Amino acid sequence: MKTLGLIGGMSWESTAIYYRLLNEIVRERLGGLHSAKLLLWSFEFAEIAERQHTGDWQGAEVLLVEAARKLEATGAECLLICTNTMHKLADQVQAAVSIPLIHIADATAVAVTEAGVKRPALLATRFTMEQDFYKGRLTEKYGLEPVVPDQAGREMVHQVIYDELCQGIVSGQSKAAYLNEVARMRSEEKIDGVIMGCTEITMLIGQPDFGIPVFDTTRLHAEAAIEFVLG
Ligand code: GLU
Repeated sequence: MKTLGLIGGMSWESTAIYYRLLNEIVRERLGGLHSAKLLLWSFEFAEIAERQHTGDWQGAEVLLVEAARKLEATGAECLLICTNTMHKLADQVQAAVSIPLIHIADATAVAVTEAGVKRPALLATRFTMEQDFYKGRLTEKYGLEPVVPDQAGREMVHQVIYDELCQGIVSGQSKAAYLNEVARMRSEEKIDGVIMGCTEITMLIGQPDFGIPVFDTTRLHAEAAIEFVLG
């Protein structure tokens, strides 16, 4: 089994989910006492979130590249950036190391395509919903047509991620707001699936809440990682 390198702590709430999933998937595949081999770099998320919200992506890049290099030097044989948003810097991180980066949007797009979904709703941070680094990859590389919530919906989805989920708060009211937004997108935008494009959203909603296919990027990313390390 190869050793995974996790760039995590963004937030630690979802990194804890990754840790459990990675180990559970290895146990499902190999049984017994088998578990994932991994190294974890866990950021102080306030330092990252501040750079995101002030637009200091160069400062964030310095931090992520340093983490990637340290993980490689310590024995990681591939890298996972445990957040959709920070894949904004995926190319820069990949360029800084010689081990492969397993891209969360690729793992997601493969599952979306296999499910026959074409116009998935993309629920994520404002950065992921409004910039092109993630949607562009889904569109250009996979021919998908991701649809994002309207302005008010994007604001709401983003606030719930930072003010609640990343702080360990799971609220019924926020869940209802997410479900309402998806219902609106379904009737007005003809979406045919839902990408939970933020690694904490799995704390709030899941497949049982919807009558259309739901794609949990945290799980899909973890599955792709284990596929790689087990070969
Ligand atoms: N974990 C989240 C994501 O998947 C949001 C936190 C972050 O900005 O990294 O995008």
